[in-house]
Amino acid sequence: MNKKRSTELYQRALLSIPGGVNSPVRACRSVGTDPIFIRSADGCRLFDADGNAYIDYVGSWGPMILGHRHPSVIKAISEALEHGTSYGAPTELEIELAELIVQLIPSVDMVRMVNSGTEATMSAIRLARGHTGRDMIVKFDGCYHGHVDALLVEAGSGVATLQIPGSPGVPAAFVEHTLSLPYNDSATVRKVMKEKGEQIACIIVEPVAGNMGLVLPDEVFLETLREVTQESGALLIFDEVMSGFRVSLGGAQEYYGITPDLSCFGKIIGGGLPVGAYGGRRDILELITPQRPVYQAGTLSGNPLAMAAGIATLKQLKQPGFYKGLEEKAEKLINGLDSLAKNAGIPVFCARVGAMLGMFFTDRPVKCFADAKSADLQRFSAYYKGMLENGIYLAPSQFEAFFISSAHGDNALADTLLAAEKVFASL
Ligand SMILES: *Cc1c(COP(=O)(O)O)cnc(C)c1O
Repeated sequence: MNKKRSTELYQRALLSIPGGVNSPVRACRSVGTDPIFIRSADGCRLFDADGNAYIDYVGSWGPMILGHRHPSVIKAISEALEHGTSYGAPTELEIELAELIVQLIPSVDMVRMVNSGTEATMSAIRLARGHTGRDMIVKFDGCYHGHVDALLVEAGSGVATLQIPGSPGVPAAFVEHTLSLPYNDSATVRKVMKEKGEQIACIIVEPVAGNMGLVLPDEVFLETLREVTQESGALLIFDEVMSGFRVSLGGAQEYYGITPDLSCFGKIIGGGLPVGAYGGRRDILELITPQRPVYQAGTLSGNPLAMAAGIATLKQLKQPGFYKGLEEKAEKLINGLDSLAKNAGIPVFCARVGAMLGMFFTDRPVKCFADAKSADLQRFSAYYKGMLENGIYLAPSQFEAFFISSAHGDNALADTLLAAEKVFASL
């Protein structure tokens, strides 16, 4: 596979962009390769600067649930573009996207748009602290909530991939109010909340953890979080930036039947443009400026192009049978990978919920970050490189989930499994 142009672009990028990339995991360092520069995409395929084609299982890290360049999304963006790109004043498009989210997510009475998932979680935490008058927050090891200072503790995604505990530049005082507990460990949550519950402003959690690889909540974990927060007066925040509209139309909260106080969204609701949002109970959301004093603002928040892309995307997701079709594809793929790996004598732990998938190279079940870290990272790197050489584009880290879109057809799935069979045999 010719990578000449990508290599040239990477060398050039390194001179003017730190690490040559604008988000760290894109650099592919942990798997020992250089990044591939993309020129275009269509449906389930990416095309790189050298003209190579790949079947894409990253989907821009989650947003592209309809595949790339879906006609209705392109049309909506083009139409919005004709009118202008940003006004810094309210538009009808913002109401329309807010109404769609409120209609589809029952726990959300009101929603505020921001520009990234990071902004959504940062703002939700500020709001929880403003609402409760408490400072401490609880998060879980291996969950990633964006690069918010207070949340860069035992974080997943790039932080896990780079194997750093936190980050230089975050003052100790900024994280001293953050407690990070093991995922799926209900007993520890109960114990901590019993001791410190009255100081805790919120528990923030990925209700389906997708930033340490894919780790599903066990039967009692989310229920326990709901129970202990209700008892202590803390708020429960579901960070559904990844799982929202991915696990099911109503997100992980619908799938598992747990109602959080606040929810964070991003990725899919922007249809491939930069968006985040946080929403929830009306009495809490009304504490935000300008109604009341909890401050939060954004020059480009509710951007008309992003709103148009989000609205067009959510309208497609509402079509009857959309998730059923998507889940059938996801199920076929994960079952195929699982049995091919086993046939080749490679121990893997596979998981799936909705259109979120994960595969760890380990012989034991993965229920928390410590389990995830036991996976064979060298084997993952070899698998990643082999798949890439065979035209399959995966996230370059064992600590990431993978995604399919409605644009992944039978041929693409069959080609993926053929590639996997070949690569497993070589590991
Ligand atoms: C991606 C992600 C974020 C951060 O979103 P950005 O748009 O990258 O800032 C936050 N939480 C979760 C669960 C995510 O997957």
